[in-house]
Amino acid sequence: MAKKVFQSILSVAVMVLLITTFFIVNEMYRSFTNSQLEVLHGEARVIAYGINKDGLQFIDQLDDADYRITIINDQGNVIYDNIDNDINTMDNHLDREEVRKAFAEGYGSSIRKSTTLMERAIYTAILLSDGNVVRLSSTYPSVYHFLTLISQPLLLVILFIILVSLYIAYKLANRIVKPLNEIDADMPDNVPYNEIRPIMEKLSAQKKRIENDEETLKRRRQEFETITSKMNEGMVLLNDEMAVIEINASAETILGEEDLIGKKITETEHYAKLASLFEDALLGHRSSKKVRINDKRYDAEVSPVKMDGGVVGIVLFLFDDSFKESAEVMRKEFASNVSHELKTPLQAISGYSELLKSGIVREEDQEDFANKIYLESQRMMKLIEDIIKLSHLDNEDLQIRKEKIDLNELCADAIETVKKDRIEDVEVIYKGEPAMVYGNRELIESIVFNLCENAIRYNVENGKVFVTVSSEEDSSVLEVKDTGIGIDPKDHERIYERFYRVDKGRSKNTGGTGLGLSIVKHACILNNAEISLESRPGKGSTFRVSFPKA
Ligand code: ADP
Repeated sequence: MAKKVFQSILSVAVMVLLITTFFIVNEMYRSFTNSQLEVLHGEARVIAYGINKDGLQFIDQLDDADYRITIINDQGNVIYDNIDNDINTMDNHLDREEVRKAFAEGYGSSIRKSTTLMERAIYTAILLSDGNVVRLSSTYPSVYHFLTLISQPLLLVILFIILVSLYIAYKLANRIVKPLNEIDADMPDNVPYNEIRPIMEKLSAQKKRIENDEETLKRRRQEFETITSKMNEGMVLLNDEMAVIEINASAETILGEEDLIGKKITETEHYAKLASLFEDALLGHRSSKKVRINDKRYDAEVSPVKMDGGVVGIVLFLFDDSFKESAEVMRKEFASNVSHELKTPLQAISGYSELLKSGIVREEDQEDFANKIYLESQRMMKLIEDIIKLSHLDNEDLQIRKEKIDLNELCADAIETVKKDRIEDVEVIYKGEPAMVYGNRELIESIVFNLCENAIRYNVENGKVFVTVSSEEDSSVLEVKDTGIGIDPKDHERIYERFYRVDKGRSKNTGGTGLGLSIVKHACILNNAEISLESRPGKGSTFRVSFPKA
């Protein structure tokens, strides 16, 4: 901008300079011409005075011939000429302007072109007392000649003025532009020129609008990123040229590629497996299929994004399907485990009853056999009970009723029941304080019972179980600590699996089903509680369940 202002000022200055120079030179030349005429007129008057007084001999007395002196009679004929003696061949002079004027008014003058371009001719004529006219003529520089005469000083002056103009234009341009550069768009009132105030106000309002839009856009993008980054499903947004516009972390992990934004999906490693889906989407159809990427099964789904009837983008979702596979494997495993677990007590019951039925059992042994049948059927019932409980907790549509519960009261009652049913010589000590939780009573009770049963079952002779309930800053905590056999850290993760037992024999002999901790784990998840274990072989175990405070 400074350059433009500079150029404008300079061109105006040069134009003014040229116009001024033209007028000044013109004026100088005009006054130069006038002075030439005046000098010639003065001379003519002197000569006319001399001729009037002394006649033509006065001219002869003049020794210089700077002027051409011509005397013309009233007929317009030249009767004397100091330069050209051949007066008879000369034209009639009555048509000459200066001569005509002199005869009419006593004095006349005129300027005419000279024979050369460099000079002009001036004439002045005065009426003599004898009725003739004396005319003086001379030459003086033409305007071109005049210009060449003054060109040197004139050019110097012009050059000097141009240099000064350059300097002034530079300074002025800077002075005009500097405050403009210092304008703060946030302060439209603080402008150096009133003329730009309206545009500054508009700009400032526009800037604020853009800033707000940017902020909203940034926030939306962040929200979008936060939401999509937490998604387990892979999500990819593409434009109609198949270039990636957005991709979440899961999709990057699934596709095993990074920095895909801006790149074409067609250039990715696994594109071939998805190509048919994208072809459908580009034709405007939703489509899905199962694909295997890096040994994992996914449900891939594409939807076209349409605008004005055309496809402007494509959304790809990749749903992890492998958990369905593993769930199926788990289900099969569970079914075979259940049948195996049920077979053992059933076989025992069937064997004992067959013996009883055959009558070969001695009378004194019959009670013992009946007892065994009773115990095995009890075990079977407990197992079926646990299986039903677990499958109930497994149900995805399960609705559980939650309420505000004092964990302290619930535990105190549960411990009383545990103590009543206790046959082992393990002492159960309870200590608690009011601690509110928001959860399902039945499920929390099953947590307490299962943990206490295990703590008694896997304890040592004359061992102890300490159950405590405490209220912490954000949580209500149940702790079941025993002085029992403990659990090897390598088994800590696995003990929550169905039918996983560290010590199979002990579990079965003491009526364990291998499902207790699976039920506990499920119950914890459904009550938003976290379970942790601290245990070492021979050092006892401490299970800690932390519920969010109600
Ligand atoms: P179980 O009915 O066999 O007790 P659980 O699911 O309740 O089944 O427990 C799984 C396994 O974890 C048990 O078989 C046992 O080996 C181990 N376990 C559970 N609680 C304790 C504990 N308090 N002390 C030592 N081992 C335990």
